Amino acid sequence: MLAGENGCEKQEKVNLLGFSRAKMEEFFLSLGEKRFRATQVIQWIHQHGVADFEQMTNISKPLRLKLTEVAEVRSPEIIYHNISKDGTKKWVMRLDGGNSVETVLIPEGNRGTLCVSSQVGCSLDCSFCSTGKQGFNRNLSAAEIIGQVWVALRSFGEYDPSREKPITNVVMMGMGEPLLNFDNVVDAMSLMMDDFGYGISKRRLTLSTAGVVPAIDKLGDLTDVSLAISLHAPDDALRNILVPINKKYPIAELLAACHRYLGKLSDRRKITVEYTLIKGVNDQPEQARALAQLLKGIPCKINLIPFNPFPSSDYQRPSKAAIEQFQHILGYAGHVATVRTTRGDDIDAACGQLVGRVDDKTRRSLKYIPVTSLDTVGINVVADKAL
Ligand code: SAH
Repeated sequence: MLAGENGCEKQEKVNLLGFSRAKMEEFFLSLGEKRFRATQVIQWIHQHGVADFEQMTNISKPLRLKLTEVAEVRSPEIIYHNISKDGTKKWVMRLDGGNSVETVLIPEGNRGTLCVSSQVGCSLDCSFCSTGKQGFNRNLSAAEIIGQVWVALRSFGEYDPSREKPITNVVMMGMGEPLLNFDNVVDAMSLMMDDFGYGISKRRLTLSTAGVVPAIDKLGDLTDVSLAISLHAPDDALRNILVPINKKYPIAELLAACHRYLGKLSDRRKITVEYTLIKGVNDQPEQARALAQLLKGIPCKINLIPFNPFPSSDYQRPSKAAIEQFQHILGYAGHVATVRTTRGDDIDAACGQLVGRVDDKTRRSLKYIPVTSLDTVGINVVADKAL
């Protein structure tokens, strides 16, 4: 509640940006309006990038006035926008409460992959990830998650249906563990897939998880997006160190959950297995063989990610030869293994380099040298002219 000018309590406006179709319909029904208004407003907000109800011209004047009174479309605010030498774009967005998160767009031929954050920081503390080193503050709201797509798309200027789509794929691989912010992530993803929202197909929308097993099962009951798991080790002893949530949900349980997830899908799809290669830690030929054996019989493609260094980490990236050898061993065993090209690392936009600004509630960050990329980003920022 906000205090009104005359001292009366004034109702805070409801932010429609993160409303899934179901929530939007509920909202219009509560106003005594027809269900189809939800479709219209979703279209205006997400397809046309319109935040001002006055511009929603197929909605009657009285309803537009009513909406202006009770509702708003409020997106995160861009603090910085930077473009890498390789065309990768990064946005740092300020959220309510002074935190910020980072969003990255990776253009590749006629594809544009947006990497979206789901939490301010992360509670999982994987040993090789800079986001984890920052500790955790809070979950993003559905509006803050979908707001990253909204902001990124609007940066390309006016909506033009004849133009090629700048965002064709979304990966929930930014800051945070998406399955620990379950409801908001599912709502935001439903807008990404909605034909009147962003129309991204389930095959082009990927959620990446460190392995929250019960939530993988729940996810399979509610949606059918593509699933990626952050494996990073072929055995529990090593995975316990790299991905501590493994102590709770060990590898066998995680892989069984992947099987169950694939079993619920109506089409044939593969799990993406992410494996960050760290020199001398998990990059040895015998570890590649153990990984190949572990994943035998699981419909998957393996994505090898050369470790991306960050200031407070002692880990190193393996040599090109070691990466290739690892890949060849997997290929020889019959797996499809690709090496993820490092993109945007000159602007700290590569995997595991996203840090935003986290007001750490866990105080974990005090153990490490501060790794705020914001200050470095600030030096070579380019203004976002399209906005
Ligand atoms: N919490 C989710 C999504 C965020 S991380 C998850 O764990 O899957 C997205 C991917 O980047 C994960 O596979 C993660 O393990 C990887 N990653 C994190 N830090 C990295 C680093 N420093 N170098 C390379 N990959 C990293």
